[in-house]
Amino acid sequence: MRHTRVKDLLNSTNTLHEVNAKGWVRTFRNNQFIALNDGSTINNIQCVVDFENTSEETLKRITTGAAVSVTGDLVESKGAGQKYEIQVKKLEILGDSDAEKFPMQPKKHSLEFLRENAHLRVRTNAFGAIMRVRSVLSYAVHSYFQQKGFVYVNTPIITGADAEGAGEMFQVTSLPLDNLPKNEEGNIDYKKDFFGKHTNLTVSGQLEGETFAMALGQIYTFGPTFRAENSNTSRHLAEFWMIEPEVAFNNLNDNMDLAEDFIQYVIKYTMEKCADDLKFLEGRLLEEEKSKPQAERSEMALLEKLNFVLENNFKRVSYTEAIDILRDSAPNKKKKFQYIINEWGADLQSEHERYLVEKHFKSPVILFDYPANIKAFYMRLNEDGKTVRAMDILFPGIGEIVGGSQREERFDVLVEKMKVLGIDEEELWWYLDTRRFGSAVHSGFGLGFERLVLFVTGMTNIRDVIPFPRTPQNAEF
Ligand code: ATP
Ligand code: MG
Ligand code: MG
Ligand code: MG
Repeated sequence: MRHTRVKDLLNSTNTLHEVNAKGWVRTFRNNQFIALNDGSTINNIQCVVDFENTSEETLKRITTGAAVSVTGDLVESKGAGQKYEIQVKKLEILGDSDAEKFPMQPKKHSLEFLRENAHLRVRTNAFGAIMRVRSVLSYAVHSYFQQKGFVYVNTPIITGADAEGAGEMFQVTSLPLDNLPKNEEGNIDYKKDFFGKHTNLTVSGQLEGETFAMALGQIYTFGPTFRAENSNTSRHLAEFWMIEPEVAFNNLNDNMDLAEDFIQYVIKYTMEKCADDLKFLEGRLLEEEKSKPQAERSEMALLEKLNFVLENNFKRVSYTEAIDILRDSAPNKKKKFQYIINEWGADLQSEHERYLVEKHFKSPVILFDYPANIKAFYMRLNEDGKTVRAMDILFPGIGEIVGGSQREERFDVLVEKMKVLGIDEEELWWYLDTRRFGSAVHSGFGLGFERLVLFVTGMTNIRDVIPFPRTPQNAEF
């Protein structure tokens, strides 16, 4: 018999004769009640086993993690909480699970333990919920841009361009590891190993994306990016997904409007589609909060925090204003910043970003007009000659979630900037063509998808919002 997904059974408008559900046992109580989960929803369906007519042998095999098929009537549930349950007439064990050895027994597991079992952690309620939310968020990303007529562009993952990624690029090899070309000193020459060329895994699709925006008008990329980050923070991965829209004829203000509208849309969409999962994640967080001292508890529950972002404009603040605020501040009387900002031109650390968002403005913040020398070469120089039309969007609990800018559209200014920074003009000849032929104002941004999933799920470590996290310690499978 073809099975019906648990979500559809629980949403049924009436009781049903003879349904089949297939899934995995979460718990089995009193030799009678199976909590069955099939991944379609956070909710389990209760299956009431006719234990008098079921063999002892079969009952023993109903263990946590086992795959089972249950057939019976969908009836109204007398127990609290759920509308329906299945009165089981036929039960089949599809796949046994050795209860002694199954690591995902229903108890509180540490997140570290779960990370080591990334292939099984998705069988827990929390990770099931996170992965469904992630999936819906990524659908919302496409939905937003497609509705607005953006063209989805797949920029290359292996690329020769490395102007942006100084020190953070993984190099690609096509040769057997024991046969890499050696230089005169006998050291491996990593510079020539992709069919004799030097290539890297992309750190961003922006430069290629710009060339497409200057033909298609508005484009977006949404793909994997790689950074040889050896920093082990809770916000950095070596492999993450980035969303990068790029729009011709948009200036920095248009770019901020787009980013804000986009973020609000995808959050709203996901809140509507994932209400059960988000409610569950909020409950989980509230439990966690209880074990913290009062002062460290967050002021808003998850859904309240998400609604706040939907209902309030992001505060737009120039870098210069932010520096003035930070110079006169400290997180609180006892605690000072680790890295004290005392002059204009300093790069902000995540402690400063979070201070601005969480303590000072109590709102997401868009910081703009950064000093030119702490930002990338392609950003539009302002008339003051010192700042560029850059913007970062800063979120509570996270810090930077978006980095974007209006791009330098003037050929001469761009080439001059590249010269000063020692960026090889010949290597980027194709990029400079966008400024040679029909150049125009354009802008775009990059949003790290996992940072968005972090925010929406309320999780605190980026390793917990991607199926298989890639970090310096973690690339086994
Ligand atoms: P950070 O300052 O946090 O290191 P960045 O300024 O180096 O970020 P950008 O080059 O501006 O990052 O990339 C655009 C966006 O990609 C960032 O705003 C962030 O959301 C995301 N991002 C950057 N690096 C990572 C990473 N290692 N893991 C996950 N997301 C990242
Ligand atoms: Mg970085
Ligand atoms: Mg940054
Ligand atoms: Mg950035």
